[in-house]
Amino acid sequence: MPLYEYKPDAKGCKYCAEGFEVLQSVNDPPVAKCPECGAACHRVFSSFAAIKSTRDMLSTKNLARHGFTQYKKAGDGHYEKTLGDGPDLINRNS
Ligand SMILES: [Zn+2]
Repeated sequence: MPLYEYKPDAKGCKYCAEGFEVLQSVNDPPVAKCPECGAACHRVFSSFAAIKSTRDMLSTKNLARHGFTQYKKAGDGHYEKTLGDGPDLINRNS
């Protein structure tokens, strides 16, 4: 059975404020209340899923699609453009 993490919608109590985990079946309905104080809570995605989606969001393909300019550090204070419409070089020392 997977372990799900929950966090209270509001401040919560000692038990739920930092989030709590519930071992439940995939078919079980999500826990709606903190078992200690009864505060409304919601399921949060695991840190693994959050990290993965952030990486996807910052992928070169996605940046280009949203019109960002991407630079790669090319030395002390120098940045070379790898993507986008900005200036080809940035020199932070000048
Ligand atoms: Zn609580």
